[in-house]
Amino acid sequence: MLYEIEIHTNKEFEIIDITSEIQKIVKESNVQEGIAIVFTKHTTTALIVNENERRLLSDIELLLESIAPKGKGYKHDEIDNNAHSHLRAVLLNPSVAIPIKDGKVELGTWQSILFVELDGPRLRKILVKICAC
Ligand code: ZN
Repeated sequence: MLYEIEIHTNKEFEIIDITSEIQKIVKESNVQEGIAIVFTKHTTTALIVNENERRLLSDIELLLESIAPKGKGYKHDEIDNNAHSHLRAVLLNPSVAIPIKDGKVELGTWQSILFVELDGPRLRKILVKICAC
């Protein structure tokens, strides 16, 4: 089963917790045991599994800014002016795979599924593939 989620992001950099949406899809799929693969269809977004804590999210933003600052004379900026967004995306992941157990995504206590917008605001699409296995 393949599902699609649309997200309207509001800022240039934003981290959005999509755990409840994914949980809802897993429930709807009726799969009790398997894997949920969550995949972003964009080159300037990412998915991570981590703690949804306000100060940590701000630290993640600062980390990415320090590794790939804006406007450092990147070649891609000659055509699109968002090289820093692509570079930050390559440091993260386009997808995450989470085990499903008892009809729910089996996350640790402090784990959330976080969508990372790196070049917003935009309309974004995320695919969710649910496999029973
Ligand atoms: Zn670009």
